Amino acid sequence: MNSVFNKTKQLFDIPSDTVYLDGNSLGPPTKMTSEKVCALIERKWAKLLVKGWNEDNWIDKPKHVGNKIAKLIGAKDNTVVVGDTLSVKTYQALYAAIKLQKKRNVILSDTGNFQSDLYIAMGLIESFNQKYELKVVKPEDVAEAMTDEIGVLFLTEVDYRTGRKHDMSRLTEKARKLGIITIWDLAHSVGILPINLELLQVDFAVGCTYKYLNGGPGSPAFIYIAPKHHNTAQNPIKGWLGHSSPFSFLNTYHPAPGVEKMQIGTPPVIAITALEPSLDIFSEIDIKAVRQKSIELTDLFIIETRKKNPMLELISPDKAEERGAHVSYRFKNGYAVVRCLINHGVICDFRVPDIMRFGFNPLYINESDVRKASNILTKILKYKKWDKPHLKQKLFVT
Ligand SMILES: *Cc1c(COP(=O)(O)O)cnc(C)c1O
Repeated sequence: MNSVFNKTKQLFDIPSDTVYLDGNSLGPPTKMTSEKVCALIERKWAKLLVKGWNEDNWIDKPKHVGNKIAKLIGAKDNTVVVGDTLSVKTYQALYAAIKLQKKRNVILSDTGNFQSDLYIAMGLIESFNQKYELKVVKPEDVAEAMTDEIGVLFLTEVDYRTGRKHDMSRLTEKARKLGIITIWDLAHSVGILPINLELLQVDFAVGCTYKYLNGGPGSPAFIYIAPKHHNTAQNPIKGWLGHSSPFSFLNTYHPAPGVEKMQIGTPPVIAITALEPSLDIFSEIDIKAVRQKSIELTDLFIIETRKKNPMLELISPDKAEERGAHVSYRFKNGYAVVRCLINHGVICDFRVPDIMRFGFNPLYINESDVRKASNILTKILKYKKWDKPHLKQKLFVT
C-alpha cells in the first residue's frame, strides 16, 4: 500500500520543507493542475474562443465531472452535477427536500454542523415566512430526536471542529424507516472516506471540492439527488441552465430531467478544469485504502503526541472509526501555537475558541511527516515558543 502512496505524494506540488496538515481546509494542487489550466486557456479558450462551448464540450463539464465524483461517493452515473458553492448547493438540496414532504415542517440538524449550513437553513425558513422550523440538537442526541414529526434530516457527516463522524448508515436507515428525507453534507468526507449513497439510500448529498478533492480555492461544489427523486425534486433557483432546453429561450420554465435541473448558470469552466487532475488520481486508487492509511496516520499522530504531551487535550474521538481524517486538540493559546507551527513548516489551522486542527491526507502525507509534525509541536509546547505577542495577533482567516 505504501508504494501507492509514495507515488501519489510525487503527484502533488507542495514546498519540500512543508508538512501540509490542512488539506481538510484547502487541498494542495497537483503538479498537473497548472499545466491543465494553462492548456485550457492557451489551447482551447484562446484558440476556439466561444466555439469551445461546443468543440471542447465545456457545456457538459458539470455533468462529466459530476460523474467522476459520483464514483467516489457510491452514486450512479448522472446523479451528481458540479457548480456554484457548497452554500448554494445546500440551499437547493434543503429546498428540494422540504418540498418533497407534504405535511412535516421540521428540519433536524445538530450543533456539530458547519455554520453556513445552519445559516442557509435559517435563511430558507425566513423566505417561507417561518412556515418551517429548524431543530438543532447535540450530535449525540440526533438519533433520539428523529421522530415522525421530522421532515428532513440535515447533517454533515464529519464535524469540522472535532472530526467526530456520524454513523451515516444507522441514521439514514432510521430516517428512511420514519419517512424522513436525508441530506448529507460530505464536505469533510468526499475523497477521504468511503461513501455509498446508493447502498444507504440517501436522498440528497452535497459537498465541496477544495478540501480532500484538492480542486483549488473556491472550486465548485456538487449536489447528488437519488434517482427516485429525479422527476419530483425542485430547484429553488431557476436559472437558465437548469432548463430542459436553455437555448430555446422560452419564457416559461421547464426543468431539465434528473440532477441536471440543479444547474443554475454558466459553469465555471476554468475552475472545473483545475479540479480534474486531482479527480483523475482517484481513478487509480481505492478509497478504502485511502481511509485505512489515513487512520494509520492519525493514530500515529495521536500516539506520538500523547507520549510526549500527556496533558494536551484531544477533543477528537479516540476510536479511529468514530472520526474523519483530522484530529483536534484544545489548548488555551492554540492560535499562537498554530501560527508558530506554520512558521516551523507545519501547516495546520485553528478554530475558535481554542481548537488546533491537523488533517491527514495519505495522498501526500506519510509517517515521517507525521513524526516530524508531532516532534515540532512538542518542542513548541515544551519551550513555549508560541508565547510571543506577534503570534497571538489574529489574522482575518484562521
Ligand atoms: C467547508 C464547508 C462549507 C463551506 O461552504 P462554501 O459555500 O464552500 O464556502 C460548508 N459546509 C461544510 C460542512 C463545510 O465543511
